[in-house]
Amino acid sequence: MHSVKNALYRGSPVIISEMTAQESRMHLAASRVGRLCVSDGMPYVVPISFVYEHGHIYSFSLVGQKVLAMRGNPQVCVEVDEIRNPRNWWSVVAFGRYEELSEGPRQNERDHAWSLLQKARPNWWEPGSETPQSEDKVASPPHLFFRINIERITGRRALA
Ligand SMILES: Cc1cc2nc3c(=O)[nH]c(=O)nc-3n(C[C@H](O)[C@H](O)[C@H](O)COP(=O)(O)OP(=O)(O)OC[C@H]3O[C@@H](n4cnc5c(N)ncnc54)[C@H](O)[C@@H]3O)c2cc1C
Repeated sequence: MHSVKNALYRGSPVIISEMTAQESRMHLAASRVGRLCVSDGMPYVVPISFVYEHGHIYSFSLVGQKVLAMRGNPQVCVEVDEIRNPRNWWSVVAFGRYEELSEGPRQNERDHAWSLLQKARPNWWEPGSETPQSEDKVASPPHLFFRINIERITGRRALA
């Protein structure tokens, strides 16, 4: 225990600070992959590709465990980070509410999500459109677009 404590305090101390909401949003906007955390009795975390714009996180999915969980409990969070080393990192957690962008009444928002994802990354649909058993399913429903309306965002960073 004593040697662990010595190791922890060796060298200059790491300074951990809170980021402002604006700084946190800038990091979120520059990120393309985050960990989506949902809860449906049990917590469940998976990586997703997304684009952030004006307080919303836009993404795409097949209907599976995470979508069913978000339909049951729309309060979710998304975490993004960059860990250069244990003394130099930042991470952001955005909390918000799941909204499905259905065809028909929300077609404009759905098209907007599509164009944002399309601009952000070629082949953006690939990781979200396949399951271990299936061929590429993007052309055949039940794929969907969704967004998370961010209600609260926090960020921390460490610098030695
Ligand atoms: C870089 C990256 C980007 C991705 N982008 C997207 C995206 O934009 N949209 C999207 O829908 N998916 C994306 N995925 C895939 C995503 O992480 C899930 O694997 C996928 O969406 C299936 O999730 P589901 O809840 O529908 O699982 P289901 O297909 O319903 O499977 C259920 C079970 O499979 C297991 N499982 C599912 N996914 C994972 C996983 N990733 N790791 C370990 N176990 C798993 C769990 O035990 C879960 O209980 C991305 C993955 C990566 C690595």
